[in-house]
Amino acid sequence: MKSNQEIIHYLSKIKLAKFTAIYEAGPDGLELPPYKGATFRGSFGHVFREVACTCPHRENGFASKHLEQCAYGYIFETATIDGAEVLVNNESIPRPFLLEPPNDMRTYYAPGERFTLGFTLFGKGIEYLPYFIYVLDAMGLQGFGKGRKHAKLRQIFTVDQHGDWIKSIYQADDRLLRNDFSPLTGEDIFNSKADSTAQTCHIHFISPVRLKYAGEFVSTPEFHMLLRSACRRITALLYFHQDEPKLDFDFNGLFQQAEQEVTCLNANVEWTSWERYSNRQKQRLKMGGIVGNAIYKGDFQPYLPWLKLAEWCNIGKNPVFGLGSVKVIIK
Ligand SMILES: [Zn+2]
Repeated sequence: MKSNQEIIHYLSKIKLAKFTAIYEAGPDGLELPPYKGATFRGSFGHVFREVACTCPHRENGFASKHLEQCAYGYIFETATIDGAEVLVNNESIPRPFLLEPPNDMRTYYAPGERFTLGFTLFGKGIEYLPYFIYVLDAMGLQGFGKGRKHAKLRQIFTVDQHGDWIKSIYQADDRLLRNDFSPLTGEDIFNSKADSTAQTCHIHFISPVRLKYAGEFVSTPEFHMLLRSACRRITALLYFHQDEPKLDFDFNGLFQQAEQEVTCLNANVEWTSWERYSNRQKQRLKMGGIVGNAIYKGDFQPYLPWLKLAEWCNIGKNPVFGLGSVKVIIK
């Protein structure tokens, strides 16, 4: 069994880079659905494939299998790499990025109005930043939402370990990428937040959190369910996108300890549901999750590194749609 120090050492190695892209709505404004994740993820995937995939074996103009060196294949279809069985639990392989669309219910942006699209790249995904920028620019030209109305990519900022926008790496004026930034590491993230021995943990579910536990979607989140999801996702990101070995650690012991020792004092959450159309499956899919907040009581020391990283990696299903964003406050 690894000690907490060894876990922190292992998690310190995680690498991620967070950015905020600023768009300006075009002369016709923009009409978007209340939940914008599917709009932005859909447009992003579509444009990325057009730009980055030149693989053969095409059906309907698109590759059915991607070559190892295909950027689109790596970023979007990292689902068939050997070794899925080494994960903590049998979870699908995470994508090396997540999107953070505007998290409000607004359905109209006026001409010239600005809005942000956040995105985070993980591990080897960071090397693909130039593709992301090119695609984000092209997405605006193709247009978003109803009537495919245009938006202009104005600027992209890096985000530091405190969440502040630090440095402009791209501007519409010259369309040059200033690629001189350092990714954040787990160490930066751990150092930016003081350890706390407080016994109360508030978790805010900012965008819908889709957690599955024992085969069912979770509508009342127990602490151990959140922890399980965070551990699965973070270890999978390290394994698949940073080539870190599987951690020799008694996860079941940690989960059982959380299940027995951390209690939920109050869960003020609701299930929120919407639908998206899946081009691949040719049908409408329900995409629900919980929003709100919950308060837990216990000793959070053993779980702190996972909780801190969960704020940067999201938890639950479909982070590429912007789902699973959480804030953790221990006080
Ligand atoms: Zn391809």
